[in-house]
Amino acid sequence: MKLFLASSSVFRANLLRRSLIPFEMVPPDIDEDRLKRDHLKAGISSKELSLKLAVDKATSVSAQVSGELCLGCDQVLEFQGETFGKPSSPANLEATLKRMSGQSHILHTAQVIVKDGKVLWSHVARTKLFLRNLSDQAVGAYIDENWSDVQGCAGGYLFEKTPHIFEKVEGNFTDILGLSVSALGEFLKSVNVLPTQWQPPKFAAVLGHPIAHSKSPTVHNHWLQKHNIGGEYLKIDVPPDHFSDTVTLLFSVGFSGFNVTIPHKHNALQLSERPSQRAQKIGAANTLYLDGQGSVVADNTDGVGFLDHLKQSCPSWKSAGQDVLVLGAGGAARAVVSALLDDGCRSVILTNRTGETANTLASRFASSVKTVPWDKKDDYVGQVALVVNTTSLGMTGMPELNIDLSHCKPGTVFYDLVYAPLETDFLRNARQNQGIGVDGLGMLLHQAVPGFEAWFGCAPDVDDELRQLVLAR
Ligand code: NAP
Repeated sequence: MKLFLASSSVFRANLLRRSLIPFEMVPPDIDEDRLKRDHLKAGISSKELSLKLAVDKATSVSAQVSGELCLGCDQVLEFQGETFGKPSSPANLEATLKRMSGQSHILHTAQVIVKDGKVLWSHVARTKLFLRNLSDQAVGAYIDENWSDVQGCAGGYLFEKTPHIFEKVEGNFTDILGLSVSALGEFLKSVNVLPTQWQPPKFAAVLGHPIAHSKSPTVHNHWLQKHNIGGEYLKIDVPPDHFSDTVTLLFSVGFSGFNVTIPHKHNALQLSERPSQRAQKIGAANTLYLDGQGSVVADNTDGVGFLDHLKQSCPSWKSAGQDVLVLGAGGAARAVVSALLDDGCRSVILTNRTGETANTLASRFASSVKTVPWDKKDDYVGQVALVVNTTSLGMTGMPELNIDLSHCKPGTVFYDLVYAPLETDFLRNARQNQGIGVDGLGMLLHQAVPGFEAWFGCAPDVDDELRQLVLAR
């Protein structure tokens, strides 16, 4: 038996695909608005309405595919006893959000399986969502920013795009998206359409502000596909004021964990009940997940990502006993210095444009970190086995890093954390001086490995296929 999705919803199709449920899509041939009006005239509840519309859709497709399973779905938003559909205009959405602000509403998510015109299975999930108290200004800003994305959505929101507008949710993520995948999967297993080992999808995301530029979804969704794991990795823009609340909210609806990027890395460490040692040393976290007891673990994988990539690129590299020059003293420098010292480096010479920041960083670590003035950095290049650029110099839109490498020892490794562009002046300069140049893209890929393993239960490889995929995006 095959499964036919009686819908033209790209959201539901994407969710089935991500959940590794095979299906074909056939839009139902019904006048949904008219049917909805007729059902409402009959005085039925919002829950019954969602179920009836799901049956209408599945029955319409069932007439075209005899002997097959047809999945019909519908979602109805109920607020104070009224049914809310898609907003008809920005002004209508403004009025709806102002009414729902600071109050709870219900999403009824219905799904039915119809075969040869008969309902074989049905399930209606009830999710209660509490919208924050939104000021008139916040409602206006929300509509300006999101209207084009939310105009086709009941209630006028896409939960996965702006979860921070919700204070609390009683329910789970896929029900909010419009399909109760776990319940559907169990039914499909019972009729042998899915294998018994099928598992509900898992979800993770990168949280930042802004976040549009992030390459992390490309990396994690590639690994999910490669390892045939059901799930999705999203990117979610979370404003700083709502970071901790949003993490709690997303864990509560079933997310497995998060990557965290600028400007939330410090807050990510603060909210954790169980920060890892390396995250505490660095003073920031970039990976969150739950332990077996439901406590939030915060880890920092930037340092280990840097080190793993350094060793993959220079297989003969041994940190033990080496002296290293680190340029820059920001968040990335803290992770790099911490990882190099943990791996056995003898000393780190640290230099930064703002000397005070370098001194503060050095004071976090043992006396093996010594700071030197930024304008004297050239003098130290010949004394070390590795030079790491952790500044943003050389990044697209930034000035190049000016440093004289002509006195370096042959075979010195020059690692640039910058990966856009891949080939910086610093790396060109290094190669011209018989040094080994390593770009920062590998660090970005390697730092993602521990998070993927914690959320999805499998340790992925960083290989050239992934590197090329990320470069092509
Ligand atoms: P950050 O905390 O903002 O630190 C920026 C660093 O760059 C500071 O040391 C700053 O010096 C220095 N800097 C900025 N403009 C400068 C200039 N005009 N002249 C001299 N120094 C300058 O940023 P971050 O998170 O550490 O990131 C730094 C770089 O590493 C970025 O390019 C980022 O993309 C890259 N990075 C790459 C990866 C990866 O996976 N490859 C991971 C993390 C970061 P002051 O203290 O004097 O301002």
